[in-house]
Amino acid sequence: MKRYDVIVVGGGPVGSHVAGKLAAWGHKVVVLEQKADIGEPVCCTGIISRECVNYLTLDESVILRCLNSGRLISPAGKEIRLWRPETQACVIDRPAFNLLMAKRAQDRGAEYLMGSRVTDVQVMADRVIAAAGRQGKSLDIEARVAVVATGFGSSLAGRLGLGKVGDFAAGAQAEVDANVDEVEVYFGREAAPGFFAWLVPTRPGKALVGLLSRHSPGLYLRRLVALLVAQGKVVSTPSEIKYRGVSLKPPPRTYGDRLVVVGDAAGQVKPTTGGGIYYGVLCADIAADSLHRALENDDLSARSLASYERAWQKRLGWELKMGYWARRFYERLSDAQVNRLFDIIMRQGIDVALLKAEELSFDWHGRVILRLIRRRVLSAGMEMVTAPLRLGRRNLTKVE
Ligand SMILES: Cc1cc2nc3c(=O)[nH]c(=O)nc-3n(C[C@H](O)[C@H](O)[C@H](O)COP(=O)(O)OP(=O)(O)OC[C@H]3O[C@@H](n4cnc5c(N)ncnc54)[C@H](O)[C@@H]3O)c2cc1C
Repeated sequence: MKRYDVIVVGGGPVGSHVAGKLAAWGHKVVVLEQKADIGEPVCCTGIISRECVNYLTLDESVILRCLNSGRLISPAGKEIRLWRPETQACVIDRPAFNLLMAKRAQDRGAEYLMGSRVTDVQVMADRVIAAAGRQGKSLDIEARVAVVATGFGSSLAGRLGLGKVGDFAAGAQAEVDANVDEVEVYFGREAAPGFFAWLVPTRPGKALVGLLSRHSPGLYLRRLVALLVAQGKVVSTPSEIKYRGVSLKPPPRTYGDRLVVVGDAAGQVKPTTGGGIYYGVLCADIAADSLHRALENDDLSARSLASYERAWQKRLGWELKMGYWARRFYERLSDAQVNRLFDIIMRQGIDVALLKAEELSFDWHGRVILRLIRRRVLSAGMEMVTAPLRLGRRNLTKVE
C-alpha cells in the first residue's frame, strides 16, 4: 500500500489550499475527491472580497466581474444603494477557481485521485487509513494524518467523533438570462425565510439568481424568478436549479488524533451571508501551519493538533459568534420590522455613515454589528424584539 504523509478528503478550494501548502513544504500529499472532474459546476455564487482576491493572488482568468455597488431591497420594495468608488468584491467563475486551486496544489506536488469517495477513515496509533470507493473498486490509502475538507453536508467528520455543524441554511441557485448590471439583495420572509435572496450579474447578459433559506429553497426560488421575469429583470426561466446548504455554526470539535476538519465541513463560514471561501482558505492556512509543525515533530495527537482550533478560533471565533447572533436576531424579525429597520437606516443616514466608516468591510461584520447595537439602531427598529437583544448583549460582552 502506498503511504503518504497527508490524506486530504475533498478537492474543493479549501482542501486544495491545504494540500498545496503542505506539498510545497515537502510533505507527501494525496487528495481524494469523489467527483470525476474538479471543474464540475458547483452551487455557489462565487462572490469574494477584494481582500480575498489579493490574498489568493487571483487574476482575470477566474474573475468574471468586479463589484463596487449593490442594492438592498426591503420587503416593501424600498432600496438602499451601497456604493464605494473602489472595487469591494469580485464574482469568480467557481469551476475555473476550483481548477486553479487544484492546479496550484498539483504544481507543488500534491497527487489527486479523482472519482474517489471516502467512506471511512480509520484512526490508528501510528497512521490513518482512508477507505474509498473508486471505479467500482475499494481502495485503502494510508497516511500519517487526514484532513477532512468535505464541504457542506458530509457525515464523515461526525462519524469520526468530531460532531456535526451546529446549524445550517438551505440554498438554491440557477443561472438565468438577465438585464441587470448591479447586484440586488432581497430581504423578507416572502423572499427567503430567515435569510435573503440575490440576483448577481456574472457574464454579459447572464446572472445567478439564488437564495438561502430556512426551508423550501426551491419553492422560494421559483417564486422569485417569476417575480423578476414579471419585472423584466430576468428574461429566461432556469433550465436547472442547483441545491446545496451552508454551515452556519462550527461543530463541537475540529481536530482529533491524526485528524483536522477545515472549510465548510468545519462551519468556517460567515453566518451573516453564508460566504465561506475566504474564511475556509484562511483556516486552511492555519491548518497547514499546525499540521506542518505536528508532522515535523512527529506528534499528531489530538493534544498537538488542538493548536489548529485555538488558532482559527482566535482569528475568526469572535466574528463567527457576532455574525451568528446577528443572523438569529434577523430571523426573528417580521417583514414589518425589517421595513422599519430600512426606514431608520435611510432616515438617519446610517448607510451613508457606514460607507464612510472603515469598519464596513465585505468580510468582517462584527464591528459593524456592534456599532449598530451601540447606536441602538436595532432596538429602535425592533421594539418588540428586545429579549434577544438583551440576551445578545450578555453574549457579546463575553466574547468581546
Ligand atoms: C447557494 C450558495 C451560494 C454561495 N455563495 C458563496 C459566495 O458568493 N461566496 C462565498 O465565499 N461562498 C459562497 N458559498 C459557500 C461556498 O460555496 C463554500 O463556503 C465553499 O465552497 C467551501 O469550500 P470547501 O472546499 O470547504 O467545500 P466544497 O467546495 O464543498 O468542496 C468539498 C469537496 O469535497 C468533496 N467531497 C465531499 N465528500 C467527499 C468524500 N466522502 N470523499 C471524497 N470527496 C468528498 C466534494 O465533492 C467537494 O468537491 C455559497 C454556498 C451556497 C450553497
